[in-house]
Amino acid sequence: MNIVEKKCKVCPVGCDLRITKNDDSQFSVEGNRCNRGKEYGINELLEPSRILTSRVLLNNGPMGRLPVKTNGVIPENLVDECMEIIKVTEVSAL
Ligand code: SF4
Repeated sequence: MNIVEKKCKVCPVGCDLRITKNDDSQFSVEGNRCNRGKEYGINELLEPSRILTSRVLLNNGPMGRLPVKTNGVIPENLVDECMEIIKVTEVSAL
C-alpha cells in the first residue's frame, strides 16, 4: 500500500487529499469535497500534469512582456523544456 498526500489544485478551496494505492493497484482518495478532486488525485499519481503560465518578450507593445498560458494541461516532465522555449520567444504587437 502506497499513500501520498497532496493539495488539490483544481479550485481555490485546496482540499488536502490523501491518495492511497492499494495492493491490488486500485486507488482511493480521501479529503476531497467533490469528484474532481478524486480524479485530480489519481492523475497526480499516474501522470502528473500542469497548466503552464508564463510571459514572453513583447516588442512594440504597451508593456514589455505578454502573459501566455498553455491551452490545456501538459505532462509535468515537459515543463522545463517548455520554459526554455518561452525564454527565447519574442512576439510583436504590430
Ligand atoms: S476536491 Fe473539489 S472542492 Fe476540493 S479543491 Fe479539489 S476541486 Fe476544489
